[in-house]
Amino acid sequence: MTSSSRSARPPLNRRLAEFGTTIFAEMSALAVRTGSINLGQGFPDTDGPEEVREAAVRALRDGRGNQYPPGPGVPELRTAVAAHQERRYGLTYDPDTEVLVTAGATEAIAAALLGLLEPGDEVVALEPYYDSYAACIAMAGGRRVPVTLRPGDGSFRLDLDELRDAVTDRTRLLLINTPHNPTGTVLTREELTAIAELAVERDLLVVTDEVYEHLVFDDAEHLPLATFPGMRERTVTIGSAGKSFSFTGWKVGWVTSTPALVSAVRSAKQFLTYVSSGPFQYAVAEALALPDAYFAAFRADMLAKRDLLAAGLAEAGFEVFRTAGTYFITTDIRPLGESDGFAFCRALPERAGVVAIPNAVFYDHREAGAPFVRFAFCKQTEVLREAAKRLKAAL
Ligand SMILES: *Cc1c(COP(=O)(O)O)cnc(C)c1O
Repeated sequence: MTSSSRSARPPLNRRLAEFGTTIFAEMSALAVRTGSINLGQGFPDTDGPEEVREAAVRALRDGRGNQYPPGPGVPELRTAVAAHQERRYGLTYDPDTEVLVTAGATEAIAAALLGLLEPGDEVVALEPYYDSYAACIAMAGGRRVPVTLRPGDGSFRLDLDELRDAVTDRTRLLLINTPHNPTGTVLTREELTAIAELAVERDLLVVTDEVYEHLVFDDAEHLPLATFPGMRERTVTIGSAGKSFSFTGWKVGWVTSTPALVSAVRSAKQFLTYVSSGPFQYAVAEALALPDAYFAAFRADMLAKRDLLAAGLAEAGFEVFRTAGTYFITTDIRPLGESDGFAFCRALPERAGVVAIPNAVFYDHREAGAPFVRFAFCKQTEVLREAAKRLKAAL
């Protein structure tokens, strides 16, 4: 009896059953099988600064971080994170009680949701969303309430009335992401002011994923939510060395917030990884102290890549949305006579030798995301040129 009912029950629990395998696994396998250029997953195809790589080698050789580092992160990195937040944004955090190092932003998101949510709590998140959000809300027993960013005037915007209407008495927190993956939207001062006022008025916590804080273009400006009135005490801010220094494999991320909120996040984090990335933590401490010239050059380099790919996609016939931040371009495939992003992306490798991601995977309202397709431009110039050439020839 027990054994037959156990075998009748699927191995994967109900909380995770809806999520299946991430699209990136399927698309990256397709890229390999077809020899395609992979503009699907967002990782740079060149490493970050040489001196930061060398700092990691030095830490490893000197035996710093080869054994379990302290639970909250090595003091050098916590101090560097606090100094970075102060230097760039005028936000002061106590490295001992208000900074927590995590296994990338991914663990920071998971630990924040697991540490802050009670089962049944509602989380209002901007849709389309980064693919781990929905799964982490589900693992924490929360309910996600998407607020859809809508295309208009060349970019995706937040409808503030929709955001207000999404908040109920069961809402525990707002999960915000700016600069926003996959749309490339950077929330404006007006939008962030309205989010902050809503959070204060309804006494909500805010978890804000700012991993692309250094990748904003043209006249866009990254404004951390924690800098708005009444926000520092209710905001958990998340950053990552993967995106800011092009070392996505190192998995070094961090959280800054109040002692009480950091402690809640740490309570969950200690039972996930406990600690991670020992020697890399020392290297990232040095990276965060790099001069402004590094960040300016990084941004200029990515801006040139954005412009190159945006022009190529437009020439190939896509409608191209303006990317104000991140390293992604969202396109609309309808001018190509297509409407189903899934079908389009599944066929594209055979058809053009290029891999992209259907934005629909980032939506609960799949139909709202159906015609949109995301391309990553954090790749070498020759790779982007070749991709543009292939798309133009094939579409
Ligand atoms: C890449 C990414 C993450 C994950 O960052 P890691 O530091 O690699 O874990 C989180 N949020 C967004 C929006 C991302 O694009």
